[in-house]
Amino acid sequence: MKNMFNRLTIVLFITVVSIISSLVITFMIAETFGTGMDAINVACAIIAPALIGPMVTWYIVGLLLKINQLEQEQRSLATYDALTGLLTRRAFLEQAGRALNLTHSGQMIALAYLDIDNFKHLNEQYGHAGGDAILKAFGVLIQHLIRRSDIAGRLGGEEFAIILPTASKDTAYQILERIRRAITEQVTVFKGQPIQYTVSIGLSLHPKASTTHLETLITHADHALFDAKRKGKNRIALYSPSQE
Ligand code: GH3
Ligand code: MG
Ligand code: MG
Repeated sequence: MKNMFNRLTIVLFITVVSIISSLVITFMIAETFGTGMDAINVACAIIAPALIGPMVTWYIVGLLLKINQLEQEQRSLATYDALTGLLTRRAFLEQAGRALNLTHSGQMIALAYLDIDNFKHLNEQYGHAGGDAILKAFGVLIQHLIRRSDIAGRLGGEEFAIILPTASKDTAYQILERIRRAITEQVTVFKGQPIQYTVSIGLSLHPKASTTHLETLITHADHALFDAKRKGKNRIALYSPSQE
């Protein structure tokens, strides 16, 4: 409806501009040849663009608006994961890299790697659609619990990452513990069945240094995640260099 209104407005605008231009050109020609503007000249100058203008521009403007809409949809699909509403892997890496660049040397930068526990089993128990319902609910919950400055993305499957810029160790733990607990308490109803699940979180937390790269933060958080899984899942583990 909004698109139709835009199309109508643009077509009307182009038609009015065409009529005014046509009148000006006709007037200039009439002046040049000294014939003067009579009613027939004026009528022709108005009627021709008033008829041809909308016919041509209606189609072209429609096409341009469609291209614009498709471009926006494509950008949104490349940026946001359709299932969880969180950033796609590519968009996350881009935005996380930018956040890391903006972090001043010495400021804390935290990256959490989240992996849903026993997801294969959940898929087997409730079917792939049940698994998808969990991923969707997970995305909504994450978006509610992170700060405006935090960046959350789906790295793939049931694995997610959150960048927590300038978060102290306490703040990072507070946010992640809130997420972990909220997930254990969340009940996703799928086909009338209540589903509950848990998540393990690996946390990599460093004061920014010239050697701090996004890939390193991700690798460290992944090591910590492995530790959280090994210790029994449904917990947060902090990366320590001894895990290397
Ligand atoms: P762990 O607790 O050690 O993490 O075990 P897990 O079963 O969660 O680990 P694993 O990584 O082996 O399983 C992930 C499963 O996620 C396997 C894959 O079939 C499923 N999966 C990946 N993407 C999707 C998706 O988009 N939707 C659904 N429903 N399942 C997915
Ligand atoms: Mg996994
Ligand atoms: Mg898993």
